Amino acid sequence: MGESFKTHRVIGMAVDPIHVGTGGGRLGRVDQSIVRDPVTRVPKIPGSSLAGVYRAYAAMAKQKYPDCAGQGQPNKQGKGGHCGKPDCPICTVFGFARSAGGGFAGLAAFSDAQVLFFPVATREGPVWISCPGAMRLAEADIDELTDAAVYRSKGGQSLNLGWLMLPVKQFPQPNDGLKRLESTVPAYLSERIALVSDKLFSHIVNSNLEVRTSVSINPETGAAEEGALFTYEALPRSTVLLWEVISKNPTHFKVGDAAVSAVKDMNDVSKVVEAAHSYLECLGVGGMGTRGMGRLRVLSFKAIPQQPAAPQEQTGGA
Ligand SMILES: [Zn+2]
Repeated sequence: MGESFKTHRVIGMAVDPIHVGTGGGRLGRVDQSIVRDPVTRVPKIPGSSLAGVYRAYAAMAKQKYPDCAGQGQPNKQGKGGHCGKPDCPICTVFGFARSAGGGFAGLAAFSDAQVLFFPVATREGPVWISCPGAMRLAEADIDELTDAAVYRSKGGQSLNLGWLMLPVKQFPQPNDGLKRLESTVPAYLSERIALVSDKLFSHIVNSNLEVRTSVSINPETGAAEEGALFTYEALPRSTVLLWEVISKNPTHFKVGDAAVSAVKDMNDVSKVVEAAHSYLECLGVGGMGTRGMGRLRVLSFKAIPQQPAAPQEQTGGA
């Protein structure tokens, strides 16, 4: 039978601000807030959102667009919708909805994308902050840090992170995980990494999100709606995110009564997923795409050793 799944860790950087909205929730002074982790309050991109854009872009790459790309509902004439065939790379990898004969959950599953490095303005120019909780996701474990300090490779007196002034302390012992991350991100970023505690990280990220003001446009007149000024928040450009993709072993699954023929092994599944990455960089994720938001550049896509337990996952199915 062989292994049942393989996990790839993906590290990507926001080329534009990214707005993945909660669907209207007002938060403080912001009209359109973004999705946050319920425990840490740090913004994230839900795995379900990633699954949706990966599906659409992989379908473009495999020329299965638009029928197999979307939610899968056929039109009024019963045409279109997911083909649901065992030789379709999109329907087998991302799943399909079928009223007759049941659906298929899909061979790929996506974790939420979490913030790994977050850009903050300081009097010395931008620095990118991270924290023990975020580093752990990248297997770069560091000890807990005390709350009221910023840790950098070079010492110093004090540094402001946004409006917050903190004493500077020396990094904890550099570890292999952090070195690996430094070689993944651009040099201008790796030279400007600073660490803070988990608690302070959440606080600083939430105080330094991009907040923009925009105007609703009436689609009929093309003019601004009266009183339609609204604010929305976004992860700023150059935020680094981390997410995981699980590729399941196709030989363990059947589509209807048939073996999956579109992909023969877990490598094939991950290749279908990976084909979406160039589109992700051009077309992006989340809302406000027409306002120049959402493009996400994948910096690394690497298989990681089997973990004892699968992370919380979101299937690619509709
Ligand atoms: Zn299909």
